[in-house]
Amino acid sequence: MKCTKCGDTAILELRRHNAAFCTPDFLTFFRRQVAAAVRKHRMFTRDERVLVAVSGGKDSLALWDVLIEESYQTSGLYLDLGIHDYSVESKAKCEAFAAARGVPLIVSSVAEAVGAPVPVMQKVTRRPACSGCGLSKRYLMNKAALDHGFPVVATGHNLDDEAATLLGSVMQWQTDALSRQSPALPSTHRRLARRVKPLYRLSERETAAYAFLRKIDYIVEECPFARGATSIAHKEILSRMEAVSPGAKHNFLFGFLEKARAAFERSETVRLEECERCGQVTTGTICAFCRLADEVKRSS
Ligand code: SF4
Ligand SMILES: [Zn+2]
Ligand SMILES: [Zn+2]
Repeated sequence: MKCTKCGDTAILELRRHNAAFCTPDFLTFFRRQVAAAVRKHRMFTRDERVLVAVSGGKDSLALWDVLIEESYQTSGLYLDLGIHDYSVESKAKCEAFAAARGVPLIVSSVAEAVGAPVPVMQKVTRRPACSGCGLSKRYLMNKAALDHGFPVVATGHNLDDEAATLLGSVMQWQTDALSRQSPALPSTHRRLARRVKPLYRLSERETAAYAFLRKIDYIVEECPFARGATSIAHKEILSRMEAVSPGAKHNFLFGFLEKARAAFERSETVRLEECERCGQVTTGTICAFCRLADEVKRSS
């Protein structure tokens, strides 16, 4: 197999692009896809400080690596979820990554903010771990951005993640989720940072290849609570589609973004207030995060 660009031996075939690349040309392709995402959705400029949410996994560390290489002003944000060995190991990967590149890493602990780590939160609330965890992550990302003066938070969601989320939302016809599914969410309140996903054009296989070729040391294990999640079933279904029809994931996601998303956009904007307790945005008087923290406090 030959590189489509230079004719050297290719290391990776990208069937959906009808291309194969050698190492240098694949790295260039990867960086260009990120640059195209940033440009198309006006995600951020080189004058802005970008907070990159890192989990210690391949996607978020690959994203941070590209943005550092491209001279963006970045800091990492690691949210310590308190999920046993998984959190200990993933935090160590993020700290080592930041130290090796001399870039700042902010660490925020869910247990400190909510009053309990994710596994305890799950027992107390009797809701799936991902429910309290997801809520806490969204809240703490925005809080870190506000506290440290970042206008925008970037996450490592890739094409596979986004296509699986879309499939999940379509399966349940969650019109709210469909209206919010976008590579770039604008700030709709002065206390809300923008949220962007610069890897949405790149597949999981491509981010894994990038991380490997760039010798990024990342945590391979998934969060133990991810096992059996419906999102994994959605990813498997889409991967089977991709195997028989290269480009299926891309067409599904990009087709939605280009042709269907507008139909789900709300005409009226949701009125956002500031939480009476913590000042972060909410649609009520006390935000869902403060209510979660109350629930945890009551049971301890
Ligand atoms: S899979 Fe793990 S990290 Fe992801 S939302 Fe669920 S509990 Fe949190
Ligand atoms: Zn080449
Ligand atoms: Zn609050």
